[in-house]
Amino acid sequence: MKKERVIIIGSGPAGLTAAIYTARAQLNPLVIAGTMIGGQVALTHEIENYPGFFSTEKTPTGPELVAAMQEQAEHFGARFEYDEVVEVDFTKGAPFRIKTYGDEYQADSVIVTAGASPKHLNIPGESEFIGRGVSYCGTCDGFFFRDKDVVVIGGGDSAMEEGIFLTRFANKVQVVHRRDELRAGATLQKRAFSNEKMSFVWDTAVDEIVGNGTVTGVGVTDIKSGKKSIINTDGVFIFIGHYPNSKFLNGQLAMDEHGYIISDELMRTSVPGVYAAGEIQDPIYRQVATSVGQGTAAAMQLERWLSEQE
Ligand code: NAP
Repeated sequence: MKKERVIIIGSGPAGLTAAIYTARAQLNPLVIAGTMIGGQVALTHEIENYPGFFSTEKTPTGPELVAAMQEQAEHFGARFEYDEVVEVDFTKGAPFRIKTYGDEYQADSVIVTAGASPKHLNIPGESEFIGRGVSYCGTCDGFFFRDKDVVVIGGGDSAMEEGIFLTRFANKVQVVHRRDELRAGATLQKRAFSNEKMSFVWDTAVDEIVGNGTVTGVGVTDIKSGKKSIINTDGVFIFIGHYPNSKFLNGQLAMDEHGYIISDELMRTSVPGVYAAGEIQDPIYRQVATSVGQGTAAAMQLERWLSEQE
């Protein structure tokens, strides 16, 4: 069994930032990065809202931002293992046991930053057209739909907030919802209904996404009449919720009813010595900038906790 001082689970912006801070604190962190570095941001085309990297000549892409963060972490001594955590045992306190597909570790302290994933509809055409008309992030991809028509799927706060954001770019934003009323809060509903560019297709299920290289439409069924039709569109934005990637924790940290880790303002979890940062404990902000801040805070608190143990 390998012994580590600090293990960071996850390699999105929160994990990479925690790696930079713990490495600079001489804690020699090991990042268990998953099979792909970067988390959700690595799937994002251009990042225009992360402070300090924007330029009118060249906006960084998600993978570029992630690569820069990883390079910085490695420069200060962070190590990366491309493996996935399958099991943890936090029940006996430190040292914590972490099992991956390839190894077993003991760690004096842990930062969990395994992120969240947008829920998929799991319908034909969806995975085929990701990045070619299908998106799960209006903030990331809205700009590419300037003067185009888009469909938003979902009726919650995210769908309304993102739909309203998309009206800055798109000609027309059609919200397709499976019921005849929205789940979103009253204020967002009011803003959505009064937005001239937004329209609503009620009681409608989306069965497939169609296209030819890029998206050209969605195949839908009117739930009340059973009538099938095609809505022509250039883009499909799916906002039917997120789920935190917390299954591997097997309930060993306190979580809310949706599986998000409950952490306090010091990024502490219910187990002393185990910290959490980024979207696995944040269902609200979901931004690179907020995850980076939470990763920083978790690393600083962990460092303090470790020195108190000595
Ligand atoms: P959500 O509230 O769970 O809403 C998901 C929406 O997607 C619902 O309208 C749901 O329909 C629909 N949906 C779910 N599965 C579907 C499927 N398989 N096919 C078609 N439609 C499906 O998720 P969210 O909007 O991401 O919000 C998550 C949490 O973050 C909420 O607590 C929300 O209040 C919060 N949030 C707040 C803000 C804000 O305050 N500004 C912004 C974003 C998110 P039904 O309504 O029929 O169930």
